[in-house]
Amino acid sequence: MKKRLFIYYFIFIISTASFFGIFLYHSHSQEKNLAKENITLTSLLISEWIKGAFNASDYILRDIIDNVPTTALTYPTNDPIEHARISQLIEKKRQTLPYSNGVGLNDNKCIMTHTPAEVGFDASQREWCYVPMKNPKLDTYVSNMFMSNIGEMMVIQTRKFPDNKGLAGLGLNLSFFSQWVKKVHIGRGGVVAILDRHFNLLARQPESPQALGKKAGSPILEQFMTSQLKNQSFSHTSPLDGTGRLYNVRKVDDLPFAVIVGLANTDWLASWYKQVAISIFITALLWLMGWFILRHYQDILEQKSELEEISNKDQLTGLYNRHMLSKTLEKEYHRAKRMQGTFEVIILDIDNFKQVNDTYGHNVGDVVLQELALLMKKSIRLSDTLGRWGGEEFLIIAPIKDHQNRSSMAENLRTKIEAYNFTTVHTITASFGVTRYQEGDCINSLIKRADDALYDVKKQGRNQVEFRLS
Ligand code: GH3
Ligand code: MG
Ligand code: MG
Repeated sequence: MKKRLFIYYFIFIISTASFFGIFLYHSHSQEKNLAKENITLTSLLISEWIKGAFNASDYILRDIIDNVPTTALTYPTNDPIEHARISQLIEKKRQTLPYSNGVGLNDNKCIMTHTPAEVGFDASQREWCYVPMKNPKLDTYVSNMFMSNIGEMMVIQTRKFPDNKGLAGLGLNLSFFSQWVKKVHIGRGGVVAILDRHFNLLARQPESPQALGKKAGSPILEQFMTSQLKNQSFSHTSPLDGTGRLYNVRKVDDLPFAVIVGLANTDWLASWYKQVAISIFITALLWLMGWFILRHYQDILEQKSELEEISNKDQLTGLYNRHMLSKTLEKEYHRAKRMQGTFEVIILDIDNFKQVNDTYGHNVGDVVLQELALLMKKSIRLSDTLGRWGGEEFLIIAPIKDHQNRSSMAENLRTKIEAYNFTTVHTITASFGVTRYQEGDCINSLIKRADDALYDVKKQGRNQVEFRLS
């Protein structure tokens, strides 16, 4: 029973552990998916911001192109008044864009025709001019990042005049990237960065001024930039600060930028860690409760079996009591009836026991009863039931196979008792009434027949066995 209880407890432990294990596994992947969604949407938002900003500057370029005839794109100019008007016009348009710090027009050979700075400058070696000019299909172009002479990160956005006649360009100060990324909150350990196509760091949150403008590439990033993918999520531990994060990188359509959004594992796992702690607490509590219930149940079982023992046994002799004998009789009776079998009932009564008490005292009488009980216990078979029927009377219920022959059990017992040397009294004898279950019997009739047989033995002089079937 004890073993079975422990097996149940073990199964309970395994099932609760599996339940919480599966639960935590699912909630972990759920949290991870949520975190991925979060960083993917954030990178999309930032890339849309960037596209919006370059669209706005492109509108200014379009506006300039619409208002400047291509015939004016000459150096040196042959109409200084018109040249001054156009120069003022383009500067005025430029001023509508807060993050723009330069404007200029070039002819088809990349000679600067209009600009508040140096007119006549040959920009044919500048990437922002020769790339679009040499590529007739490219209407608009954003240059690589470069450092201005006052240390600002810049790009030049250009748009060509019709028929490749020249181009208009705007210098854009990228410090507005940093202003934006400051507004993005991505947890305590999160990171947001904008890189150009050569992996130069253009903006970062948290701020890292010494890293701005410098290379911030990694093999994963380089692989992503050369792939066809538009955005990608991956787990990575930053070599900069050693923080494990879930990253999403995204290319900004048609523009030479990439956005990186990283959410620290400790941030996106924070609520999951709470779930782990609560699950461990609940599991431990359940196991502890289970353990206490198990121990309590065990105690109850032990008490129950002790109570059963007490309620079924005779205190003086340790044999079964009359209550247990009645139950056994009932059981044997029904079994015999069902199986068409039989069993023997032996009633045994000590002869002249009153005299023992009278002569030696009640205590000696008790010892005789105990010694007799022990002697009989040793003499019966395992399948027999022996008990104290009352006073100095005992009853044996003995299942037997043989319907015909009476058993020699009672006679053997009688001779053993007769021969036994009891303490103080030395010799006692006992009389036996024996019967056997037959069809039509009930328990009462069975006991009465054994009792009658015993009574007759007493009448006939005691210390004998009387077997009776009717
Ligand atoms: P018989 O041969 O006719 O059975 O004579 P008997 O003396 O044995 O029968 P009787 O019924 O006259 O006396 C039974 C005695 O058994 C009376 C009682 O004091 C004694 N007795 C019954 N239970 C106990 C017991 O638990 N301890 C002791 N010491 N004596 C007991
Ligand atoms: Mg008696
Ligand atoms: Mg007696």
